[in-house]
Amino acid sequence: MKIAIDGPAASGKSTLGAALAEKLGYLYFDTGVMYRAVTLAVLENNIDITDPQAVLRVVQTVHIEVTPPDHVNDGRQYTVWLDGIDVTWRVRQTDIDAQVSIPSTYAEVRAELVRQQRRIGERGNVVMVGRDIGTTVFPDADLKIYLDATVEERARRRTQEMLARGQVADSMQVLNNMRERDRLDSSRVASPLRPAQDALIIDNTQSSVEEVLNALLTLIAHIQSSGANC
Ligand code: C5P
Repeated sequence: MKIAIDGPAASGKSTLGAALAEKLGYLYFDTGVMYRAVTLAVLENNIDITDPQAVLRVVQTVHIEVTPPDHVNDGRQYTVWLDGIDVTWRVRQTDIDAQVSIPSTYAEVRAELVRQQRRIGERGNVVMVGRDIGTTVFPDADLKIYLDATVEERARRRTQEMLARGQVADSMQVLNNMRERDRLDSSRVASPLRPAQDALIIDNTQSSVEEVLNALLTLIAHIQSSGANC
């Protein structure tokens, strides 16, 4: 099966996606890290982030790899490598949060990253998480979930996460940044953030990861058994 999970920032996609993949024994892949790693490479190389062609050249030359965390035990779900350097936590910092939606608006940048994402997920048994998985990357996914929560709740969760990691977090700044990211991600022309027509829309403002996870595992078992009966 291919399972697509889309939704806005901090809606719980990665926690749910990783838990689902673990329960099913599937590969978990968070596509957001690719856009984050590209943004970091652009900033580190003093490339003009508003120049789509310059950003595309960066995408074509850098090497981004996402591997299991192995023996690193600092709460990471995976390790992100940018040209051989571990940037797992660096790509989560606020300067990346503030700029990542800019390269994400460029159609040619997206096309290149989508090509890589399809290659990673094409063998199936994958839970892929992002903004456009159900609409663009895998429109043929067996299950499409659009996970949402109010922007206030998402900002509250993100602030807690940052504080737990020992990062400085100003809750108003996190909220404003998230509103701006939602606006850019939803209004862009290339693969805007929106639920696929056949997505199951789940608002988890009031529910726990366990509740949503258990409901989805029941649904997936049902899909698998009806597939097996066909
Ligand atoms: O999911 P995460 O917050 O890490 O994503 C960071 C940014 O990357 C998003 O705000 C969005 O601009 C971009 N993104 C995207 N398409 C995806 C995944 C992420 O445009 N499939």
